[in-house]
Amino acid sequence: MIKRWFSSTSRILKPFKIAIVGSGPGGFYTAHHLTNKSPKDLQLNIDFFEKLPTPFGLSRYGVAPDHPEVKNCEEYLIDLMEDKKAHIRFIGNCEIGKDLTLKQLEQNYNSIILAYGCTSNDNKLNIPGSNLKNIISARKFVNWYNGHPEYYEKGKKFIPPPLDKIKTVTIIGNGNVALDVARVLLGSEEHWKGTDISVEAEELLEKSTVEHVRIVARRGIMESAFTNKEIRELFELDNVKFIPLEKGILESVDKSKLGRVDKRRISIIERYNNSTKEGKKSWTLEYLKSPVEFIGDEMVSATTFVVNKPLNDPLKPGKVVSTDQYITEENELVIESIGYQGTPINGFEEIGIWFDNNKLHNKDGRLLSLNSKDKDDHNAIFKKGWYTSGWIKNGPKGVIATTMMDSFDTADKVLEDIANDRFIKVDQEKDIIPKNSITWDNWKTLDNYELNKGKELGKTRYKVCDKQEMLKLVNK
Ligand SMILES: Cc1cc2nc3c(=O)[nH]c(=O)nc-3n(C[C@H](O)[C@H](O)[C@H](O)COP(=O)(O)OP(=O)(O)OC[C@H]3O[C@@H](n4cnc5c(N)ncnc54)[C@H](O)[C@@H]3O)c2cc1C
Repeated sequence: MIKRWFSSTSRILKPFKIAIVGSGPGGFYTAHHLTNKSPKDLQLNIDFFEKLPTPFGLSRYGVAPDHPEVKNCEEYLIDLMEDKKAHIRFIGNCEIGKDLTLKQLEQNYNSIILAYGCTSNDNKLNIPGSNLKNIISARKFVNWYNGHPEYYEKGKKFIPPPLDKIKTVTIIGNGNVALDVARVLLGSEEHWKGTDISVEAEELLEKSTVEHVRIVARRGIMESAFTNKEIRELFELDNVKFIPLEKGILESVDKSKLGRVDKRRISIIERYNNSTKEGKKSWTLEYLKSPVEFIGDEMVSATTFVVNKPLNDPLKPGKVVSTDQYITEENELVIESIGYQGTPINGFEEIGIWFDNNKLHNKDGRLLSLNSKDKDDHNAIFKKGWYTSGWIKNGPKGVIATTMMDSFDTADKVLEDIANDRFIKVDQEKDIIPKNSITWDNWKTLDNYELNKGKELGKTRYKVCDKQEMLKLVNK
């Protein structure tokens, strides 16, 4: 496909302008592939629009502070920004849909890639008692301990749960985000001390009185959503005791039918299930329980679960049904970790973009017009010049490696379309960048400040959490 370039790109005399909305992994891996794979005679001018003053999306505000190696992916964006030959700008503190409209992007860019993530809301349980105090979403808790500026805004500041007054926590859901949250609650002061966790979180965790964390899932052990590396990490936390699984859970597994990864998972759990490790804090992994009611006066004090059992229907693997058995377990904090949600950007209707079921209506990264109801329809109509990458392309799932591979696919589609003359013909040459936006040099100033102050405090980075303080530090 790309071979066709050389005949067609010669028609593009001016630099080809690409806008990428969002500077998380979905955005920066797409840009990386675009610059790597585009023909040498085509100059790409790429602008990253980022609503926060800081780049990197969930790598900065999602990935747990004790996983610094995961944040190495940020080097991809840093390399791009610091490559003198590349024509790439970072435009931070600029929210598309608010500071600039989608229409303005369409009038000024040949291709637009929406990579704005899928993290603006949560799946919720909505069961009786859901409004009680001390029931929060994992997303809010994660954003708080990672210092997300929207959670430190004056007047709207997120009030963290009273970790210095409670003993027992229930986490609903057992994906890797649930395990991150459990590690934050169970890890020692020393575990978090040198990391880039927000100072406010670090100080509250130092005073934490949490003694027990329960991780509860509605399905069985074979449907556990965590990965092997993350569960092993939790088992190996210093001074933390794992309370063995309920009887029957491990015994129900037919190991002869397991694939390699599942076999490994079960052997990890078996090993630690039989361990005699003691600890000041403890945790349990609980299966086949669905919360049906939160109990309490003002604050949550217990959760009632209905006990489930496997349906055992080969056509519906992993499906469970409720029994008539209920159990109530005490807890002073509930953290719901049952999935993130995305939201549309203001102006989708005007442009004709379709947001549905937590993702943008697209086929292999190309946005489909509102008229193309079926994305597998061969006559589906593409929105010329519009693309998507990352979580908002596929829904809120996938680690950074999968986001990377998938972003490369979107970049290939952009390049294929340029080669085939399918892009937005821009007739105006106007710089639409808002005056108070943050440049890459501004970010470097903030970055240096955070690293230096971090060094003084014995942390890998001191995160500035307040947006106004960030802007002040870079003279905006
Ligand atoms: C809590 C958590 C922990 C995780 N830990 C790991 C891990 O340890 N290892 C791993 O491999 N993966 C991990 N992941 C998954 C990984 O973070 C994702 O695969 C990846 O970040 C998705 O990238 P993205 O660019 O699609 O979205 P994001 O990273 O969310 O980036 C989207 C960007 O768009 C910006 N934006 C949003 N709206 C607008 C707008 N209107 N205008 C301009 N900009 C906008 C956002 O501010 C953000 O910077 C984790 C995910 C979560 C939620």
